[in-house]
Amino acid sequence: MQITICGGGNAAHTAAGLLSAREEHQVNVYISFEHEADRWRTGIASQGGIKVNREGDSILGVPGRISTDPAEVIPGSRLVLLALPAFAHESILKEIAAYIDNGSLVGALAARGCFDLCVMDVLGSKSEMITQFGLQTLPWACRIKEYGREVDILGTKAKVEFATCPPSQAVELASFLSSQLDVNLEPMESFLSLTLAGTGQIIHPGVMYGLFHDWDGQVFVEAPLFYQGIDAHTADILQRLSDEIQTLRYSLAERYPSIDLHAVRPLDEWLCLSYADEIEDTTSLQTYFVTNRSYAGLKVPVVSANGGLAPDFQARYLSEDVPFALLATRGIAELAGVPTPTIDQVLTWSQARLGKEYLVDGELTGKDLTSSRSPQRYGYQDLDSMIGAMFCQD
Ligand code: NAD
Repeated sequence: MQITICGGGNAAHTAAGLLSAREEHQVNVYISFEHEADRWRTGIASQGGIKVNREGDSILGVPGRISTDPAEVIPGSRLVLLALPAFAHESILKEIAAYIDNGSLVGALAARGCFDLCVMDVLGSKSEMITQFGLQTLPWACRIKEYGREVDILGTKAKVEFATCPPSQAVELASFLSSQLDVNLEPMESFLSLTLAGTGQIIHPGVMYGLFHDWDGQVFVEAPLFYQGIDAHTADILQRLSDEIQTLRYSLAERYPSIDLHAVRPLDEWLCLSYADEIEDTTSLQTYFVTNRSYAGLKVPVVSANGGLAPDFQARYLSEDVPFALLATRGIAELAGVPTPTIDQVLTWSQARLGKEYLVDGELTGKDLTSSRSPQRYGYQDLDSMIGAMFCQD
């Protein structure tokens, strides 16, 4: 199969290395930046491929073309994989749109919220001629060891939720990609489920808000603990964020009984399912986090400031999870007429830290909405039209 990986970072190194190590694939890499593409070409030439280190083993994959010209790599690709941060999805899709073949599989790892609406917006009627897919998150924790040459897989998630549009393709495609990437993709009913079920949109902005909404600017000597720093107040914020998404889920289920949203789980239920053996004390949502062995020792993202360390409010916990996840859900809630006071509280604080304007007087009319994934940004002003667009291909 001809495959093109789009992107030049950690995920792209991993996906390109793993897929091109399989003889049956011809793997190209599309990178928007010439300086990155150059480093890939040099790195690959120097050792004959991209090395992926996993569990003490090394796999050498040999990608074919590395190009900044989509015309050289996209035509003929049956699988096009966007392996880069959500803020780059739209620009990359615009760059490659004219070259995508009908019948191809086009998807993102990780997709974040309303990726399907983004694809439909950029590709227009062509989006009906392809299968879109998205992973809830990246299946690996991975870091480039040497750019263009080597990447380390530090861990692989037990399973990752996966959706397609049209939804009927999810089971078959999840099985195919799981086998090719050597991961466990769990098919979901729809992109709507994938958007609402993402727990990163609750946990990352929720914990940042809980830890720092009244931060006085005093710098730290050491980065504070992220999950183990969750106190009762922060846990309460997380609970209320989760509750508001559950209210939205049940409101949608009542209005559209044929849409299955069972996978949009409350936060505590998701934690139990994902970390059953890792949580020592299940007394409360707070103890689910602070006694979860998988979260132990993980720190707040920080930047150097005034001779110490300050929270990095531009890190992806806010800069990706707010515009490309929580705002997608908030936009759907607005269309459904479901009030979201706690989501609004967290969004209002987050947008100030990010220097952005999405919510104005409780409405999604801010000037920066155009760089978010809220459905309003794509012109949806009523729920039926958005649901119609999301499910029209089945
Ligand atoms: P990354 O930071 O390594 O990706 C950066 C690359 O993306 C750049 O090198 C460039 O090639 C491309 N890019 C960035 N901005 C661009 C733009 N405007 N136009 C075109 N290309 C652009 O990211 P990553 O670590 O590969 O992560 C990919 C996604 O997976 C992100 O959403 C990230 O949050 C998520 N994720 C990553 C990890 C991990 O361990 N790496 C874990 C969980 C989730």
